[in-house]
Amino acid sequence: MNSPDPSARAHPNPSATLDQAIQSDALDCVMCGICVPHCPTFSLTHNEADGPRGRISLLLGISQGGLTPDADVSRHLDTCLTCRACETVCPSGVAYGRLIDNGRARLAHESAPATRPQAEARVWRLLRDQLLTRRRRLGTAWQAYRVMQRLGLGGVARRLAGPIGRALPRQLTHTTPQQTPSHELPPSRGRVGLFIGCTGAAMNAPAVAAARAAITAFGYQPVIPGDQGCCGAMHAHGGEPDAASQQRERNAAVFKAVGVDEVIVVGTACTAELTALQASHGLKVREITEWLLGREPEEWPRLARLDHRVALHTPCSQRNHLAQPDASRRLLESIPGLELLEIDGNARCCGAAGMQVLLYPEQAERLREPKLESIERLAPDVVVSANVGCATHLAAGANQVVKQPVELLAESIAAAKD
Ligand code: SF4
Ligand code: SF4
Repeated sequence: MNSPDPSARAHPNPSATLDQAIQSDALDCVMCGICVPHCPTFSLTHNEADGPRGRISLLLGISQGGLTPDADVSRHLDTCLTCRACETVCPSGVAYGRLIDNGRARLAHESAPATRPQAEARVWRLLRDQLLTRRRRLGTAWQAYRVMQRLGLGGVARRLAGPIGRALPRQLTHTTPQQTPSHELPPSRGRVGLFIGCTGAAMNAPAVAAARAAITAFGYQPVIPGDQGCCGAMHAHGGEPDAASQQRERNAAVFKAVGVDEVIVVGTACTAELTALQASHGLKVREITEWLLGREPEEWPRLARLDHRVALHTPCSQRNHLAQPDASRRLLESIPGLELLEIDGNARCCGAAGMQVLLYPEQAERLREPKLESIERLAPDVVVSANVGCATHLAAGANQVVKQPVELLAESIAAAKD
């Protein structure tokens, strides 16, 4: 499998350079079709144009000038989840993730007809740029939702929030892991940066608090620069590679300025986006689950038994982008007492896929449905997913609380101190 370099998405001469890049990747495809049955969107429509092989053909046609991207063509490309399940099974090593990102950038340069009406597309961009990628604003909005939920008005809030409302979780995590009292801290083994992204004061706040507590309990000092920003993933996969690159650069500068060379990220999708900083800036970027698994035996704090039945979800960003399909399971296996249950069809995208859950809610909900049915059958105490987007999407439909693996680890560490 080729390993796409996100920095390769930025091209100085938009259309011509993008056309070359698209053709170079697309012509690796021998059209064998092995990837097609692995594609979640193809499984919904059984339309060749909604699968990887069809999308590659469309992109090749556009880049060679033989196909004009009308609204139908744009929609087939737009609805791709960038899950990269196709890439992992491709025997020819087609770099599909890079190809579709370049394709979307190409469509953006051509001002191709929008899949949705132009006015609606502008509203979504505004929402992304003014709320979803702004940590403080999103945090404030989330707190308001939390208050309404506590007052028993969660359903009203979801209805008032319009199309966003159906993406809001029904069950919110209230646990705030205890911070280790300073007199109990092991000697500091070093300082590490903690990337909390735009959701760190909102839906990802419990996982961020857990990550801080866990890092501290392992003897490290987490440094959280306040001026860090969005990882850039939503722009990268939305046809705006230059904006994504600027956001990555900004984060690199912020973490360099606080003097850390290791950045721990809470969430697998942000990690996948930020790994480019390893090559470009020498920053060691690790997802929190992977970082914890890398600790030496003598660094591990005492863990208490947690008697929970846990349904495990594996995000595409963890399985396909980071190639760490077993990371969450391995971390949770270190906690005594947990019974781990695998959600059926874990290799298939849940439909969240960054902004897709908002742009194409029906597609997202159809893809989530079999997972919710599997969760109901398993009847776990808690569902676990290592990506905030997937966790939020699952929590919007599940009757159980959805947490990240680090939250269970932090609970086990805190319980061992009681
Ligand atoms: S990235 Fe996912 S949704 Fe897109 S074509 Fe590949 S398998 Fe299908
Ligand atoms: S992307 Fe790979 S698996 Fe899919 S049709 Fe092309 S060569 Fe075959």
